[in-house]
Amino acid sequence: MVRAERPRPTVPMLRRALLHIQGDIRWQEPLAPLTSLQVGGSADVLVIPSNIEDVVHVVRGARLGKIPLTVLGGTNVVVRDKGIRGIVMSLKALTNIYEEGNQLVYTQAGVRLPRLMQFALGRKLSGMEWAAGIPGTVGGGVAMNAGTRLGEMQNVLKAVDQVTIHGKRKRVEASTLSFMYRKTILPKGIVVGAWLQLATALKGTIQSVTKDYLHYRKTTQPLTMPNAGSVFKNPIGDSAGRLIEAAGLKGLHIGDAEVSTKHANFIVNRGAATAEQVLSLVRKVREQVARKFGVRLQLEWKVIGER
Ligand SMILES: Cc1cc2nc3c(=O)[nH]c(=O)nc-3n(C[C@H](O)[C@H](O)[C@H](O)COP(=O)(O)OP(=O)(O)OC[C@H]3O[C@@H](n4cnc5c(N)ncnc54)[C@H](O)[C@@H]3O)c2cc1C
Repeated sequence: MVRAERPRPTVPMLRRALLHIQGDIRWQEPLAPLTSLQVGGSADVLVIPSNIEDVVHVVRGARLGKIPLTVLGGTNVVVRDKGIRGIVMSLKALTNIYEEGNQLVYTQAGVRLPRLMQFALGRKLSGMEWAAGIPGTVGGGVAMNAGTRLGEMQNVLKAVDQVTIHGKRKRVEASTLSFMYRKTILPKGIVVGAWLQLATALKGTIQSVTKDYLHYRKTTQPLTMPNAGSVFKNPIGDSAGRLIEAAGLKGLHIGDAEVSTKHANFIVNRGAATAEQVLSLVRKVREQVARKFGVRLQLEWKVIGER
C-alpha cells in the first residue's frame, strides 16, 4: 500500500492556525538547543504559549488546518536532522505551581521536575523524591509515567489537566487512567497541568533521600555530557545497561555519538553528533545485543521529526 504523503504545511496555513496566540512564535527555530541531547533540525514554527488559553487556540488552529502538532519538553526525545514539520509547542512558559490544600499540589505542565521537587521540599511535602535528577517537565513526566526504582509519577498523580484534541479543557482523574512502564495511556491531547497528592514529612528525611539518589546518579550516569536519559527500556527481569555492557559496546561510537563509558544505556553527544549518527548507533547496539543474547531491546526514547 502506498501511503499518501501529507502536504507540507505552508507559511500562510501556519499563520492562520496561530492567529490568536499571545505567546512567542518563532519561525524556522533550531530545536537542538531545546533538547538535552542537542541534536536535530528546525521546527517550521515553534510556539511558546503564554497561558493555557493559548494552548487551546494552538490545538484548535492545528486541528482546523490539519497541521501536525508536536509538544516538546526535550529530555527523552531525539529530533531527526530534517527537523519537525508543522507546529512544535514548548510549554516552558506554563510554570504556575501552588498548593491547593491537604498536601494537594497543582502544577502547570511546563514546570521542570527539579523545580517541583524544590517547591515540595520548601513545604515539607514528600512523594516526589523518586524524581531526583530527572530533568523533564511535568507534562512529559505525566505522559511518560516517568520514574526510577524509588517510584513513579503514577504514585502521586491525582488528576491531569488536559486540552483535548478538540481543544477543550478537561480534568481527567488518574483513577481512570492506565499506567505502564514509562507510558501513561491518556486520552489524546496535551497535558497542561497535573494535581499531585503529596504527604507531609520531615524536611531532613526528604533531603536525605534526594541527596542519596542524586549522588547515586552522579556516580553512575554521564550527567556532564549531553544525553537523553536511558536509551532502551529494561527488559523484564534484566537491565538494558547490563546487556549492552556485556556485549562489549561501552565506548562504541559513530561520529560524535557514543555509548557512554560510564553507563551503557546512555548515548552521549561528544560535541557535534547528528541525529543520524545517534540513530545508527542505536541500530548497531540493538543488532549486537539481539545477536549475542537474543533480546530485542525496546527504545525508551521517542524519535520525532521528518525522515
Ligand atoms: C540525564 C537524564 C536522566 C533521566 N532520567 C530519567 C529517569 O530516571 N526516569 C525517567 O522516567 N526518565 C528519565 N529521563 C527522561 C526524561 O527526563 C523523562 O522521560 C521526562 O519525563 C520527559 O519529559 P520531557 O518534558 O522532556 O518530555 P519529552 O522528552 O519532550 O517528551 C516525551 C514524550 O512525552 C510527550 N509529552 C511531553 N510533554 C507533553 C505534554 N505536555 N502533553 C502530552 N504529551 C507530552 C512527548 O510528545 C513525547 O512523546 C532522563 C533524562 C535525562 C536527560
